Amino acid sequence: MLMDSSGLAESLELLKQNNLYRSRRVIDSVRGVNVLVDGRELINFCSNDYLGLASHPDVVASFRRAANQYGVGSGSAHLVCGHGREHHALEDELAEFTGRDRALLFSTGYMANLGVITALMGKGDVIYQDRLNHASLLDGGLMSGARFKRYLHKDMHNLQQKMHIQSPGQKAMIVTDGVFSMDGDYAPLQALSALAQRQAAYLMVDDAHGFGVLGATGAGLVEQCQLNQQQVPVLVGTLGKAFGTSGAFVAGSDVLIESIIQKARSYIYTTALPPAIAAATRTSLLYVKQDNWRRDKLKKLVQRFQAGVRQIGLSLMPSESAIQPIMLGGSQQAVQASDYLFQQGFWVSAIRPPTVPQGSARLRITFSALHNEQQVDQLLSALEYLPV
Ligand code: PMP
Repeated sequence: MLMDSSGLAESLELLKQNNLYRSRRVIDSVRGVNVLVDGRELINFCSNDYLGLASHPDVVASFRRAANQYGVGSGSAHLVCGHGREHHALEDELAEFTGRDRALLFSTGYMANLGVITALMGKGDVIYQDRLNHASLLDGGLMSGARFKRYLHKDMHNLQQKMHIQSPGQKAMIVTDGVFSMDGDYAPLQALSALAQRQAAYLMVDDAHGFGVLGATGAGLVEQCQLNQQQVPVLVGTLGKAFGTSGAFVAGSDVLIESIIQKARSYIYTTALPPAIAAATRTSLLYVKQDNWRRDKLKKLVQRFQAGVRQIGLSLMPSESAIQPIMLGGSQQAVQASDYLFQQGFWVSAIRPPTVPQGSARLRITFSALHNEQQVDQLLSALEYLPV
């Protein structure tokens, strides 16, 4: 026998006892803020569809049109015969949108982060990561074989202390989330960029939660901070969040993108995204650029929520983004709070270790431009009686 199955059952039991067991709920309705889940009608406050584009009729129509034209599956990896006209056009448009020479599509953000880091860094190199970076960045760092150092969250002093003079031939890379996925706060990109340039290190920013939402045209935190390709040479964005579709991309110089194409195993050895996803994303991009009202509305809803939470006396984390966590501490409290909200008609997920550090379990509340003020007020009324 390969594995003692009773050992597996015991470890599942342990997860349950510690309130760390994760389960899935089944959605039966259209994606959006009003969802039918396990037979209940709920207002969804845990999706990353920040701009409400996942269900936009024109995005759906583009998807349908392209599926009719090209079929559903891409049929192979990009480097075999999976790279279609829609993928190619989307890459060009993402490069232009982000102000980079080129962009390269990946099937998921997780795979983009693994692929980019392992293509650029290897044994003998050194990687510095914010300790709250997304799991895919941490996993990519570990997989690369480079020396791996984690610095305290957003702590420039701590990072500087950990950085040392590189030996000849040794590469260094600083890696950070743009908007931190579980805290919602912003990385100090200007300071990180200045330090990276001083130390001749790459700077890699994964702006999964800023892309589409921040910046004057929605090009993300990097646009908001006005950082160009030289200042942030490795930029990752994901398409399954504000863009409402699926997949991810890395953008940067021609030589960077060419190196990633040649070396990133999670690019080379996997089936390309369905072409219809690329087509739908091209339409999303049009709305991201033109619909400033979505970003403005999101900001107003978040401000309304923050003001309401302060009145209730719950403590919010220092986040200006569409991610507004309420820190509860213990996993049991977070699960109880999430269950209570479910009973009240709100879907808010409990985020627990190992996604976040021990003792920092929380409710992660996310907003969408499709929410309205009344729904925010309803959530606030329920939060007043949160069993914590
Ligand atoms: N980076 C960050 C910061 C994320 O939050 C996520 C998704 N939760 C990813 C990468 C992975 O993206 P994807 O879901 O496309 O794999």
